[in-house]
Amino acid sequence: MDHSRIFNNFTYIYPVVSRRSEGVSLGINLNVNNACNWRCVYCQVDGLVRGKPETIDLKKLSYELDYMINYIVNGDFLAKYASAKFRRFNDICLSGNGESTSSHDFLAVVNIIASLRERYKLIHNVKTVLISNGSEIDRPDISKALQILSTLNGEVWFKVDSATKSGINKINQVILSVDGVKKRLLLATKLCKTYIQTCMYKTSGIDPDTDEVDAYINFVNSVREHIAGVLLYSTARNPALPEGHDISSVSEEFLANIANRLSTNDILVKYYQ
Ligand code: SF4
Repeated sequence: MDHSRIFNNFTYIYPVVSRRSEGVSLGINLNVNNACNWRCVYCQVDGLVRGKPETIDLKKLSYELDYMINYIVNGDFLAKYASAKFRRFNDICLSGNGESTSSHDFLAVVNIIASLRERYKLIHNVKTVLISNGSEIDRPDISKALQILSTLNGEVWFKVDSATKSGINKINQVILSVDGVKKRLLLATKLCKTYIQTCMYKTSGIDPDTDEVDAYINFVNSVREHIAGVLLYSTARNPALPEGHDISSVSEEFLANIANRLSTNDILVKYYQ
């Protein structure tokens, strides 16, 4: 099976056999129009546009999710598509071709996940993960959705690529204050188990500068008592956007060095290239 987001001609649901999690992840893509409110230079969504998801066909999404959970839990999906080592259902993951929480149907989607998890008795063994840029967390319906996620073995992977206003502007191509990011991050941590997820990369062959890295470390240290940990990674393949033409992966040593600096403050860090 490849890692594209098309399976069985489904619109919203796509399974991924993940080496990283050593299991199967069932992805939910609400941004079928490839629209995001951010434009990160390393984004890998082909044809990314600014915007938000169109209205979700909840009946269709529910049918597709039901079909796939049943196929994994009661059918031969794992035997057919996953090698022996990866034959386990790891998570249901809200990760689309854009920011999922921009959808006004997000809360309804989380309620569908909750009811199907209940029906298939996915109690503690399967996680529900939201990968998010965190920009909409303080909307009341999204805060409510995070509260529900926390009852579904939930995790939020909250994107923080920089802790300077200029860095956020350069990397994520949005204008945000660092205080605002911290406020939304702390709100997320109150509602659901939350990891910071960070992408670091070289520009024209040069690593992120020392001031940027120091600001990032200080930011993470300032929230260390609230977060579950940090997930550090670098660009996996060539970015889709023209703005990303001169970026490339940092070395494993670079990520390890940041991980070491954070670990000295008892912060759980996982890193991968
Ligand atoms: S938030 Fe995610 S989908 Fe949106 S531009 Fe950034 S990487 Fe792409």
